[in-house]
Amino acid sequence: MSEERRALARAVKRHAEGLRALGVEVLPAMRRVEAESTQADPGPSRVERLAHVVRDVEACRRCPLYRTRTHAVVGEGSLTAHLVFVGEAPGREEDLQGKPFVGAAGQLLNKMIRAMGLRREDVYICNVLKDRPPQNRTPLPEEMEACFPFLRAQLDIIQPNVICTLGAVATKAFLGAHISIMKIRGEVRDYDGIPLVPTLHPAYLLRNPPAKRLAWDDLKKVKRLLGT
Ligand code: URA
Repeated sequence: MSEERRALARAVKRHAEGLRALGVEVLPAMRRVEAESTQADPGPSRVERLAHVVRDVEACRRCPLYRTRTHAVVGEGSLTAHLVFVGEAPGREEDLQGKPFVGAAGQLLNKMIRAMGLRREDVYICNVLKDRPPQNRTPLPEEMEACFPFLRAQLDIIQPNVICTLGAVATKAFLGAHISIMKIRGEVRDYDGIPLVPTLHPAYLLRNPPAKRLAWDDLKKVKRLLGT
């Protein structure tokens, strides 16, 4: 650097120090950088938007399940996940911990994720219902309808490349009550432009271990869609 440029740099530094002493923290050039980055990322971040969803779920009174829950279970995982797993509803353990798939079915789901070459923290896991139905009964159609906008909001935030529905309830929530999980599992369907692959619920697989082979075929299809 020439002596002239060094002198200029010293003068700029002194000028900035002088301004800072006067309480000026942001110089015009820095403002321009902020304006550019704001344009590149308009609106609230994914974390903030999801925090809104959490608040809305916690305040929700659209169905009576909030009265019997311990915790609402909104979801867990990466907000930039390429793959979202959607289950049915929290069970006892999930209700106690406020996290999805942490009981026996969750242990199997973890193994399924690992078998795909992924980690649980690479994907996002949630359910159609955010509150546990008493005695783990099957969700009612009106509960699913009331809760679906939260799931929709989560997908809008995450924008996954693939949705994998776990079991009949989650699959019906997306594709309609008429579907049969045994008939369409492993098929690639479309949900609003996102490929959706239904597979068997891990709780079902725990009761019917030979069906794990079918679920693995479905997960291999998911892997292909993800390009992994
Ligand atoms: N079964 C589900 O469908 N979801 C959970 O979170 C746990 C078990």
